[in-house]
Amino acid sequence: MSEDKAGWSVETLHPWYRQALRIDRMLYDSKTAHQRIRIFENARFGRVMTLDGVVQVTEGDEFVYHEMMAHVPILAHGAAREVLVIGGGDGGMAREVLRHASVARCTMVEIDRGVVDLCREHMPGISQGVFDDPRLDLVIADGAEFVARTDRRFDVIIVDSTDPIGPGEVLFTETFYGRAKRCLAPGGILVTQNGVPFLQPEELRNTMRAFRALFRDATCYLAHVPTYAGGPMALGWGTDGEARRTDPATLSARFAAAGLKTRYYTPELHHAAFALPVYVRDLTV
Ligand code: SAM
Repeated sequence: MSEDKAGWSVETLHPWYRQALRIDRMLYDSKTAHQRIRIFENARFGRVMTLDGVVQVTEGDEFVYHEMMAHVPILAHGAAREVLVIGGGDGGMAREVLRHASVARCTMVEIDRGVVDLCREHMPGISQGVFDDPRLDLVIADGAEFVARTDRRFDVIIVDSTDPIGPGEVLFTETFYGRAKRCLAPGGILVTQNGVPFLQPEELRNTMRAFRALFRDATCYLAHVPTYAGGPMALGWGTDGEARRTDPATLSARFAAAGLKTRYYTPELHHAAFALPVYVRDLTV
């Protein structure tokens, strides 16, 4: 819940830590059937969306998160054609996924049609037209239910969810992870938004416990997203394949072949992102 000081969006994801962003112009503030959506302008971060008071995406720093969650698994995999994005209502993840010409289809399962519609209207700079890409298959549904019943198989599954509150809570359960694994094609990779370990250690610890039971390779990698405050953000990584061992030269060749122009991702950073500080590594073992 956010408790607004006049003109500020105060995020209270944690009882003992707050982050506030000045609201220079409120563009939208209302509830959908699932959550409270606010979209406002801030002088440094551009347009910002919060869901239930928690920062989800800002025009200023979204490139960090979307590049690292999309390009790390896709370039490590090397031949990803079917990609599933769970959540990602702002369209930024699907945008980065479909920059890979090698991806035949991006299935995006978002629970809240309101997020998609409002981000298309008020934050078009995030999706950049991806909702009109014929390779995008947008499904409005609960991602947990989708993986329980689909017979599709995916080379990469990206869980671009909210935090484990509200509709996102189900996406942090062992049942969900097991069902998501069932939907992976051989050599497939599951990556998950896993919060900021310094502030949310139990979230990462719980996910890693479930991943270790499910995958031969279970770890996380890091990205530094300014508005996900409190230190580096952890992105969960689970696979039975060898993709994490892809050597830097191969990553560089794939990156060049993909013709990607990035503002955060580099093949060297991809490799280094899996080098964990002790306090984070201890949450993964
Ligand atoms: N970058 C953000 C982060 O790291 O927290 C995530 C952004 S994205 C907007 C999160 C999306 O997850 C929202 O659009 C929300 O509606 C969606 N979502 C939450 N629970 C979901 C569920 N059970 N199934 C599908 N989508 C869900």
